[in-house]
Amino acid sequence: MERITVTHLIERIPTEAAAYLYLEGLRWPDKPVCPHCGSINDHYYLKPSNDVSRKTRTGNVSERRVWKCKDCRRQFSVLTGTIFHGSKVPVRTWVFVFFEMCANKNGLAAREIERRYGVHPKTAWFMAHRIREAMKVRGAPMTGVIVADETYIGPDPTKMNAERRAKRVAHHTDKQPVVSLISAKTGEARSQVVANVRGATLRKVIDENVNKLGSVLYTDAGSQYTALGRRFTSHGTVDHSAGQYVHNGASTNKAENYFSQLKRSLDGTHHHVSREHLDRYLAEFDFRYSTCKMDDTERMTRLMGQVPGRRLTYKGTTRP
Ligand SMILES: [Zn+2]
Repeated sequence: MERITVTHLIERIPTEAAAYLYLEGLRWPDKPVCPHCGSINDHYYLKPSNDVSRKTRTGNVSERRVWKCKDCRRQFSVLTGTIFHGSKVPVRTWVFVFFEMCANKNGLAAREIERRYGVHPKTAWFMAHRIREAMKVRGAPMTGVIVADETYIGPDPTKMNAERRAKRVAHHTDKQPVVSLISAKTGEARSQVVANVRGATLRKVIDENVNKLGSVLYTDAGSQYTALGRRFTSHGTVDHSAGQYVHNGASTNKAENYFSQLKRSLDGTHHHVSREHLDRYLAEFDFRYSTCKMDDTERMTRLMGQVPGRRLTYKGTTRP
């Protein structure tokens, strides 16, 4: 398993051109794919006349590695159509931040990005936000044994004074109900902030994320899961009020461990968790949780595969 550190990356990526090459390796392990038309033909690398850099239209010197599509004839770089596109931040800085947000157990708060990489606070926030957006991308519905559970994130409003409580409600930073679904088969977690934890709400979350046919649902004995459970091949419950942790093979331990890790991480890294920020943070935490068995390079490759969004098509890939 390859273990990467920031020091290792700094040595390996001494220049902007090296940062482009590094991202190309993650995005295109075989060969460049045109982000405009999806072609995997042998595209032309547009070598700068001095081998290293080119002058941009604005007169700056750029080490951007540019390709020209053999089919649609348009130019592109590894940044085209990704979250990195159009940013003024050096690509090297993006790579380091990208790596740290993938590899650090608790992610990287915007103020840390600002401090470590000397970028403007707004830029730091923007970078973290863009990377979290990529982490949000979800794959096909989950199948197999699915553990579902809910929790509340945020300080207990009954322990605050009235003024503070009113302020938190006004800023939507009061206690937020969160539902998590965890696949026992793949270890993938999908969490989201919900308006409430009633049956209809949970049903919607499950419908969007789980293929119920042939799947098994494990939950606690909460009545909101009873009707939902009937839609699965089987439904196992544990009754915590009766001191049960495992019952007929069913257990919600995975969800409880997930929530305790999540709360520890939130306490340590992020202090003001409004609803909007919590959703993004959940996406980030889910991403790292779901990829915890991968090594750093595999995890970055996975995320790099998610950054192009849906604009990348594979039209034309069958051409010789
Ligand atoms: Zn093309």
